[in-house]
Amino acid sequence: MLYNNSFFSIFFGTKEQSFVPPVVPESLKFNGRTPLFLKQIHSNHGFIINDDKYDASHWQQFKNQGDYIITSYPNVVLGIMTADCLPIILVDSKKKLIANIHAGWRGSVLKITKHVLNSLSTEFNSNPTDLEVFFGPSAQPCCYSVGPELIQKVTEFSFGHSTLSSDNSQTFFNLPGFNRQMLIEAGIRPTSINTSFNTCTICNPDMCSYRRDKNKERQFTAVWLH
Ligand SMILES: [Zn+2]
Repeated sequence: MLYNNSFFSIFFGTKEQSFVPPVVPESLKFNGRTPLFLKQIHSNHGFIINDDKYDASHWQQFKNQGDYIITSYPNVVLGIMTADCLPIILVDSKKKLIANIHAGWRGSVLKITKHVLNSLSTEFNSNPTDLEVFFGPSAQPCCYSVGPELIQKVTEFSFGHSTLSSDNSQTFFNLPGFNRQMLIEAGIRPTSINTSFNTCTICNPDMCSYRRDKNKERQFTAVWLH
C-alpha cells in the first residue's frame, strides 16, 4: 500500500511483496532505486545516509548492523524488514528529513525511538513537534502474548503497566502503544502519530508473522523523499 505526500512516499509491504533476506528481488525498486536494508539486530543504533550517491550498489545489503536509517537526501529509499516487530517512520516536514526504524520489543525498551529523535535533533536541529509519525503493521495486544523477561523490562517504564493486559493465563503486550507513549513523552504531538497502517500481523493472514508462521519471510516498509 502506497502513502503519497507532496515530498515523500511510504510503501507498506504485505506478505504479497515479502521475501527472505538477504536476497533482494530484482524487481524491488521505487523511482528506479532499490531500498537499502540493514542487518537488523534489535539494537538502538543505526545510520545516517548523508550522501546522495547512496543507492543499493553503494550499500552492502543486509551487512550494515543497526535498526534505523535516517536521510535528508531525495531518492534514497530506506527499507526495514519486519514480521511482528514495529516499523516506525518519522518525517520532518520542515527540515525535509525521514527515518525508518525497526522497533521490536527489545529495541523499544532500549529506547530506539528516543535515540533517533536525539540524532535528528543533534545532527539536523529537528524539533519533535514538527515530526509526523507512521506505524506500519506489527503484533498487537489481541495476539501478542509475552513472557517474564519482557514484562520485567517494560514495567521499568512509568507507562509500562498501561501497555500490558492479562486474561486468566496470559499477558499481552501493546508494542505500538508502548512506542506511542515513548514518542509522546519525547515531545511528539499525539495527533501526529498515524496508526491507520498498524494492522495486527499475527491475526491478519495477509501479513508475515514470525509468531504465527515461524519462518524467515519478512515484509518490508520503505520510505523516500521526492
Ligand atoms: Zn491480532
